[in-house]
Amino acid sequence: AFGVEQAKRWMSIINDNIQQQKEHLTELDQAIGDGDHGLNMARGFQEVVEKIASANYEDLGSLFKDVSMTLIAKVGGASGPLYGTAFLKMSLALAGKKEADDKEMVAALEAALDGIKARGKANVGEKTMVDVWEPVMEFLREKGSMQAKEAALLAKEKMEHTKELEAKKGRAAYLGSRSVGHIDPGSASSYLLFAALAEALE
Ligand code: ADP
Ligand code: MG
Ligand code: MG
Repeated sequence: AFGVEQAKRWMSIINDNIQQQKEHLTELDQAIGDGDHGLNMARGFQEVVEKIASANYEDLGSLFKDVSMTLIAKVGGASGPLYGTAFLKMSLALAGKKEADDKEMVAALEAALDGIKARGKANVGEKTMVDVWEPVMEFLREKGSMQAKEAALLAKEKMEHTKELEAKKGRAAYLGSRSVGHIDPGSASSYLLFAALAEALE
């Protein structure tokens, strides 16, 4: 099962991944945005790890609430409120739970995707993080269990597929067809999030 220790591990691995890929995320955002995605995410997840390390959590809900509030306060840009909303919805879905079983974990991630879509109004095909989240959640919903390794592989594939897409939402949409040929930065950070989840559950 997925408990407070696994959740802390997940956040710590996401942070490691993001710090490692900070330059790469920045380069992706330089190509079709304003070049701050690596910095935004590195700043936010560093704070998340520091915030949750020192705290004792009774349940997953309160842990993910802190994650959400920290991301909203520290990441900024478009992605801060989007990831902040994702973790807020997860925190609501997992309120009062010390551990989540596979079904509860899939449901919480599903709530996170709903939050991202409600906040950003993006659909699949518009070259945003939704192009990773939605197919990954379709896969997990269909499996009905946390097949995190397979989900991470799918996330990678879908991240790479955003290269072919023309941006319709966010800053990259200003470029129109010139956004084609580049991976969406938010899809790349979302892939790192799912890769970290697979590693935390190993
Ligand atoms: P900003 O564009 O404000 O500088 P970031 O660079 O941190 O913010 O994040 C950009 C990423 O946010 C994009 O690559 C995309 O994946 C995601 N994004 C932007 N707008 C939306 C939206 N409306 N819905 C979902 N994701 C979005
Ligand atoms: Mg940016
Ligand atoms: Mg910005």
